[in-house]
Amino acid sequence: MAGKVNYIIVGLGIAGIWLSYELLKRGHKIVVFNHEKEHTGSKKATGLYNPVTGRKMIKTWRADDFFPTLETDYQELENLLNTRFLYPISIYRLFKSVKDQNDWQGRQDDRDYAPYLNHVSSHSLKIKHINDPYGGIVLNRSGYVNLNALIIAYKNYLINKDCFVEEWLNTALLNIEEGVVTYKEYQADRIIFCEGVDVSNFWKSLPFRPVRGEIIDIECDLESPYVINQGVFMIPKNGYFTVGSTYDHSVLTHEPQEEGIKSLTERIGKIFDGDFQILEKRAGVRPATHDRKPFIGFHKNLGTLAIFNGFGTKGVSLSPYFAKHFADVLDQRVEIEKEVNVQRVH
Ligand SMILES: Cc1cc2nc3c(=O)[nH]c(=O)nc-3n(C[C@H](O)[C@H](O)[C@H](O)COP(=O)(O)OP(=O)(O)OC[C@H]3O[C@@H](n4cnc5c(N)ncnc54)[C@H](O)[C@@H]3O)c2cc1C
Repeated sequence: MAGKVNYIIVGLGIAGIWLSYELLKRGHKIVVFNHEKEHTGSKKATGLYNPVTGRKMIKTWRADDFFPTLETDYQELENLLNTRFLYPISIYRLFKSVKDQNDWQGRQDDRDYAPYLNHVSSHSLKIKHINDPYGGIVLNRSGYVNLNALIIAYKNYLINKDCFVEEWLNTALLNIEEGVVTYKEYQADRIIFCEGVDVSNFWKSLPFRPVRGEIIDIECDLESPYVINQGVFMIPKNGYFTVGSTYDHSVLTHEPQEEGIKSLTERIGKIFDGDFQILEKRAGVRPATHDRKPFIGFHKNLGTLAIFNGFGTKGVSLSPYFAKHFADVLDQRVEIEKEVNVQRVH
């Protein structure tokens, strides 16, 4: 479908999927360019969404904005694409100490936590081979998305709608004017970059802080109705567990590093006392930012260019919400939220 469109979108990871979907839903004409790479943040991600995170075990940034509609948003896409990729599953976050137990005894009646808390246990849940002497919390509104399945199904959807081009978009060939951008036979009002870590020159000066992560699949003698979490996530799959992830800013490669694999296996050893075999190792790089908030908005000199990137470690939970928000901005209904506006650093 060459010709005039409202938006050219560059990149079809989780960011490009949600933004393009939202724009299509609102009746805009779009074309998505994506270079099919084996190693992208979305293809490597464990895909978890988790409302209670960090060492302090507190509600994650703006959980109350993102989580109420998260699963229904993904279900809407599942229905549209007739493909399953959303796997809601409770996370069992183990306590490390009596202090953790006390903190959560206090928090269990806190209305702010009620939607996310299934229950608090101050004793072991007696899952064979799991070391949880202090118990832990079992969370609601958590789970994972199989991003590979989503990408394949959504790409086919775009192909059927005749708005997908499988090609690297060469920014040197863009002709940019006020209110119109031309690329080969396409003309658009705007071009929006959802490039993940492959940031083009227009956005190179932004303070991205990419972070590599390792993930392994293991075979082990464990049966759990939950994702087990303490230092690592052990996610039950069909006959194996996916375990992730590490964080390293120094070596930005898609090759799994020995030190990362060692760190994962050591952390497994702290919570699981059975044997396990590694079936597969992989690594990827997350498009994280200096302040851990996405970069959304318009180029400071060239208003025809926009960015929707920087989803870091939380692409799954942040992109549906911010795709709606950015579509509202593009439709001139609202201003961009300050804390994610790319202009804060641009
Ligand atoms: C090890 C690991 C574990 C993770 N775990 C989780 C997790 O549990 N939960 C979670 O929410 N997130 C997780 N993430 C992070 C999450 O995956 C990222 O936030 C997300 O994938 C970023 O998506 P994106 O669409 O911005 O970029 P990407 O997925 O990298 O997609 C960008 C796409 O744009 C294409 N592209 C770029 N430039 C061009 C161009 N010029 N022309 C054409 N195509 C172009 C690329 O080829 C690519 O296909 C993890 C990531 C890693 C690496």
